[in-house]
Amino acid sequence: MQHFPDAKAVARTIAPDDPVILNRPHAAARAARFFVERFPGKSLYAVKANPSPDLIEILWANGVTHYDVASIAEVRLVRGLLPDAVLCFMHPVKSPGAIREAYFEHGVKTFSLDSSEELAKIVDATRNADGEAATDLRLCVRLRVSSEYSELSLASKFGCDLTEAPALLQETRQYADWLGVCFHVGSQAMSPFAYVQALDRTRAAIAEASVVIDMIDVGGGFPSVYPGMEPPPLEDYFKIIHQHFYALPIAYNAELWCEPGRALCAEYSSLVVRVEKRRGEELYINDGAYGALFDAAHVDWKFPVRALEDDLIKPEADFAFYGPTCDDADYMPGPFALPSDIQAGDYIEIGMLGAYGAAMKTDFNGFGAAQRIVVEDEPMASLYDGSRQRPEADNVVSLR
Ligand SMILES: *Cc1c(COP(=O)(O)O)cnc(C)c1O
Repeated sequence: MQHFPDAKAVARTIAPDDPVILNRPHAAARAARFFVERFPGKSLYAVKANPSPDLIEILWANGVTHYDVASIAEVRLVRGLLPDAVLCFMHPVKSPGAIREAYFEHGVKTFSLDSSEELAKIVDATRNADGEAATDLRLCVRLRVSSEYSELSLASKFGCDLTEAPALLQETRQYADWLGVCFHVGSQAMSPFAYVQALDRTRAAIAEASVVIDMIDVGGGFPSVYPGMEPPPLEDYFKIIHQHFYALPIAYNAELWCEPGRALCAEYSSLVVRVEKRRGEELYINDGAYGALFDAAHVDWKFPVRALEDDLIKPEADFAFYGPTCDDADYMPGPFALPSDIQAGDYIEIGMLGAYGAAMKTDFNGFGAAQRIVVEDEPMASLYDGSRQRPEADNVVSLR
């Protein structure tokens, strides 16, 4: 990958025709070290947030040893890059073939489930040639929890209800060498209380089941910083999770896990796009809803933007973006604040696209091309550059 100091240098030097994904290895490394050093347990990287091999290698080099994979393609990808990584297959609905290949060919022992049917599937797919059940399965029962504190809900699709959880935990315990409980509070959880509520449900399920629990996995949901979404420091989340974890009725040596996706990679990438046409306050740019801007189009996510030309001098105005495809839905309402004299031919940097951004690009309508370049400047916002720490007394979190 080519190296440049920053987005301006890229625009000026290459004047790229296609969008360019700018990667910041130092930002991903810093996020990884933050979780490895400060989360009071083990941090698994949720690969779906951004499966770029370069990113996965940076995370590994900075201490992330466990990976949350959700498909057999993700299993193969990470195993191919990292022969010694621990892979955990945390999608609660898997195909028997995927389970078999993961277990027998890639050494995957950890699987999540949210129903008896999935438990039976896992047990059957991992039987040996003599038909004997595996004795080394590490199984995690996924609980359904509320997404009310999160910007993107993950509450309706997966997870067993609290009423079913005790029976499923008891049944799973019979086949598990090691039994965990996992959940996901939804992505971009704006308050640490999301985890308190989920851990309260976990406590109720475990107490009712009265089985030995070896691991609690609080999932993903750890936020990043976007315009209008400024979460409390991650230390607040870690502290409150740790306190509530300790109060659970679990094995004395039980482990605490988390599965950050967004928080580990949001700062890794930004995008350089070019304005191809201006129509009033609408800018037609060369990336969009089918590219790295899926969330900007479909869930109105706000990403930070900056113009890369030095000769734009007018005060900022609010713009909306159209992407390059012929689909009307390829529209990002924003608003995105940019100098009001911006015009066709000008370049814009769109920040914080390392999570669910660069990973979402498709080739629809022939607009999938994007070069990748390494830059050295800071991401447009950061949770890890020291700017977001504040005294504990000032925290919004009050402990019960
Ligand atoms: C998507 C996902 C994650 C990552 O979520 P973030 O909000 O990006 O941290 C973690 N675990 C599971 C099971 C997921 O589906």
